[in-house]
Amino acid sequence: SDHLLEYPIGPSHMDWHQLYPALIRPEAETSTDGSKQVDIVDIGCGFGGLLVSLSTEFPDKLILGMEIRVQVSHYVEDRIIALRQQHAPEGKYNNIAVLRANAMKFLPNFFKKGQLSKMFFCFPDPHFKIRKHKARIVTSTLASEYAYLLRPGGIIYTITDVLDLHQWMVRHLEAHALFRRLPKEWEDEDPCVKIMRKDTEEGKKVERNKGDKWVACFVRLDHPE
Ligand code: SAM
Repeated sequence: SDHLLEYPIGPSHMDWHQLYPALIRPEAETSTDGSKQVDIVDIGCGFGGLLVSLSTEFPDKLILGMEIRVQVSHYVEDRIIALRQQHAPEGKYNNIAVLRANAMKFLPNFFKKGQLSKMFFCFPDPHFKIRKHKARIVTSTLASEYAYLLRPGGIIYTITDVLDLHQWMVRHLEAHALFRRLPKEWEDEDPCVKIMRKDTEEGKKVERNKGDKWVACFVRLDHPE
């Protein structure tokens, strides 16, 4: 449970060197001193397929997967270490890392206001029962937290195969004054939408089962509309 999770008391107390040893110097532990900072997060990253593809799509950005299940986070850690070793000559995959964390509780402990440019919510757990809806990863309260962490112009990406959850996420994010849904034409052009459709492990499973995938993306506005 959460009391076993380690998390910093604030963003400047996190040792990012441990996660990105090739890119962040040990002494540059704080995220507020102008050194490289995490820019993109994958919430509930599962087995890390999205991270691996984002790594080469955005080689200059630091990308972090957050995953609550300990064995799954270890699997992703091993996967990233192996990729880094395999591609050591080209120095690839140094910009992705995974952190075991409960992303519903401690995000502002890790990131400061306006730090993030993209947040991904790929195939989040649906929590079908009505009394479990408050456990969903998008709620009005959490939408405010995501707005705080994203910079103006930043994007929330969502994808799910559960229509009810899709409608729920759209409803909560559209109701928020700091988010506006992006049109289908935008989705069709965006490389990350393609990646989350085809490179997430869940996305592949849905593909095999010939299921539907519902996408919705939202831009973080400068001012409330
Ligand atoms: N995004 C991956 C994909 O598309 O393949 C995994 C999707 S899986 C259905 C949902 C993941 O979210 C699970 O691995 C689960 O452990 C993780 N998760 C659920 N609640 C979480 C939370 N509060 N913080 C971090 N991860 C969470």
